Parts: sequence; structure tokens; C-alpha cells
Amino acid sequence: MSSRKIAYVDLQVNGYHGLDFNGDQLSAGSLNTACQRLKADGVAGILATITTDTLQRMTTRLARLVALREADPLVGRIIRGIHIEGPFINPNPGYVGAHPATAVQPASTDLMQRLMDAAKGLTRIVTLAPECDPCLTVTKQLARQDICVAAGHCNPTLDQLDAALDAGLSMFTHLGNGCPLQLHRHDNIIQRALSRASKLWISFIADGIHIPWPALGNYLAVTGMERAVVVTDAISAAGLGPGRYVHGGQELVVDDEGGTWSADRAHLMGSATTMPQIEANLKHKLGLGDRQIATLTSENPQRVLEQNR
Ligand SMILES: [Zn+2]
Repeated sequence: MSSRKIAYVDLQVNGYHGLDFNGDQLSAGSLNTACQRLKADGVAGILATITTDTLQRMTTRLARLVALREADPLVGRIIRGIHIEGPFINPNPGYVGAHPATAVQPASTDLMQRLMDAAKGLTRIVTLAPECDPCLTVTKQLARQDICVAAGHCNPTLDQLDAALDAGLSMFTHLGNGCPLQLHRHDNIIQRALSRASKLWISFIADGIHIPWPALGNYLAVTGMERAVVVTDAISAAGLGPGRYVHGGQELVVDDEGGTWSADRAHLMGSATTMPQIEANLKHKLGLGDRQIATLTSENPQRVLEQNR
């Protein structure tokens, strides 16, 4: 741990210390406890992340979270807004990741509006697949309202990616994940996104498991410190140690290295890491300095929230 305190801002948090933003048992007490834990871990602000499910479940969870947040000043300070990840993502195996493919839908302005209405003005980032947004109408709808549009769990061609950039796309979510384990060695979504790094914020799950350290070092060399953002993608098991847990109705296993796997070990399901652990790893595994770590974990995510483009 560094002696210099960084006020982390984490743009992708699905849960923390037993709390699951995508669970149906969200209570005022558990929300307050999770936010106290986040604060104790040096996290100044997060985007609570609501992931793919039926529209009904997503809107119910959003509305409940917003209502509970309004009633608790600490929760209001820590939860700066909401990141809606899905349901307009690529449903194909690998790209869909841990999201339930049956709940994935083509992008629709009407459905997007229902999600935003449920989030009552707190939507800050929407992760979608540009190739699943016909005519990029949802991308334009969000960009018009200064909501950050992020590509993720996606496989657009370079032409589709460029068209999305023109329509207001400004971020790429957890690059190196949300794609199959096996890809064409050159023509793949990671290379395409990196080729447009100068126009995108690019987020990375820096737990050393979602991306091996040498690969993360290479990615950061391409993006530069000024365009990269580090997120935890933390789930409810974050900070609880190895064991078996249930997240979003699915059973998962946290291994001794902090890997967060589906029960069949077929894919990763968010991470169990925390920002202080990430800070220590960025320092010791990648040799980054305090200044660079603060840029990745605090200043850049703060900038995403402030400017979007
Ligand atoms: Zn994801």
C-alpha cells in the first residue's frame, strides 16, 4: 500500500462485501454497509452496475437502488451514478460473457428510455454492442444526453466501430474481456479497439486474472495513461476471500488467487478484487508509480464522469 492516499473512483461495481446490486434482496442496511466498506477501502465514488436481465427485473432493480440511495446520504455520496451494462450486447458465446444470453436484446430507444427512466437521471455509462444497435439510434440517443456510451461484450467490424465513434461512442468497457478465449490472432476486437485508442476511454479489469500483467502492460503502452481507466468489476464476493457464493442468481467460486469463476469454471464472473489490491498490484507487478496509479484509478474515471467525450 502506498502512503499517499488515492481517492479511487470505480466505474464498474456489481456488488461489494456481500451486497449484490443485481440481487433482488437489496436492503437499506446492506447498501449502507457496502458503502461503508467501500469508503474504508478508500473508494470515494462508484458507478453501481446493473447487468443484463429481463427488462422488468432491470427496471425494478434500478428503481429500488435509486430509492434507497435517495434515503441515505452516505450511499448518495459513494454511488455517483449507474452503469447499465446490457441488455443490448452481443449474444454469441464468449462475447456475452456471464450475461444470460436469453435476456439479451437488440438495442431499442424505447427500452433504453425505460431503463433511463427507472434510473431517474443517474445513468452515467451504458455498455452496449455497436453492431447490435441498428442505425446507432441508441448510441445517438445517449450521446445527446451526455451519457457515456461504451462498447463492450461486442464484436463490431472496424467500419461499425468507426460509425459508432461518429455517433458518439466514447469508451470501451473492460477491453480484453467480454470476448471469447480463442480469437483470430490479428483480426479481433481487441486489436480493432486498440487501433482507435486515441478516440476512446478504455477500461481494464486490473486483477491480474482477467488480463495477465504483461498483456495489461502492453495495452497501457498503446492507450497511454491518459486514455486508460482501471475498474474492479467487483461482485458481491469482493473483499470476502475464497469460497462459494451466489451472484445474480448464479453460483460462483472464488479461488485462492481471487479468480471469480462460474461453478463450471467455464468463464469468469466479475472479480473479487478491491481497489487497494489493484493499487498494490499495479505497483508491484507493473512497476507503476503513485502518480500513474492515481491517474488510472481516480483522475481518469473522474474525467469520464465529468466530460464523457
Ligand atoms: Zn462485462
